[in-house]
Amino acid sequence: MRIDIITCLPALLESPLAYSIVQRAIKKNIVQIHVHHLRDYAQNKHQQIDDKAYGGMPGMVLMVEPIARCIETLQQQRKYDKVIYMSPDGVLLNQPMANTLSLDKHLLILCGHYKGIDERIRKQWITHEISIGTYVLSGGELAAAVLVDALVRLLPGAINNEMSALEDSFQNQQIAPPVYTRPAKFRDMEVPSVLLSGNHQKIRQWEETQIAMRTNLYHLKNHTHLNKNSINRQKNKKIL
Ligand code: SAH
Repeated sequence: MRIDIITCLPALLESPLAYSIVQRAIKKNIVQIHVHHLRDYAQNKHQQIDDKAYGGMPGMVLMVEPIARCIETLQQQRKYDKVIYMSPDGVLLNQPMANTLSLDKHLLILCGHYKGIDERIRKQWITHEISIGTYVLSGGELAAAVLVDALVRLLPGAINNEMSALEDSFQNQQIAPPVYTRPAKFRDMEVPSVLLSGNHQKIRQWEETQIAMRTNLYHLKNHTHLNKNSINRQKNKKIL
């Protein structure tokens, strides 16, 4: 998989890509991630990439020209399965969406910043808009990093034990069971004895009970239910 990310602040993406599973996947060539600095696509005198909003609204807006130039340059080099804009009013990211996106070959992700991006970009070039939650961030970089992390860990070979990503929360609409490691006793806190019993059938039963309890609790806490098809419909945008 190849992921291209367009940003006006590449430094914000450095550490999320430089550690842990994502970094390992890059090193193993399971994923290639290319970060593009919007300023490199600004052709005006001061390499300006943002400007005041028309209509007198406060805040700066990322300009249409550098973004269009960057997207078109990249699209001339390869065909992208999706051109994604990270946006607070996008479709809420969830595990089924991450699963679907992890099957793509080429993804292009655009990060907004400040007040956002010129609306013409969204209309003309963006095929999918994704939100990581119903709150507003300063920029799309952290959101893009969340999306990339969620996708990359699903790629075959990214995680040592490939099965383990499938047993995480939100796969199969379930929440993962609690986990413990050594020591078996810390102060007066003990690891559930069944986990030390070596009885695989009993351990499996315990896990299933824990999964059911945690899943019910999750619904109660969030006043929701985990539903495979809970991806909201979004006007004029393709749904994953
Ligand atoms: N004025 C916009 C918010 C702009 S926030 C509005 O009110 O809707 C600046 C940038 O941060 C956005 O362009 C977007 O790329 C990113 N961003 C902010 N919150 C986000 C979220 N919840 N999910 C994904 N991207 C987000």
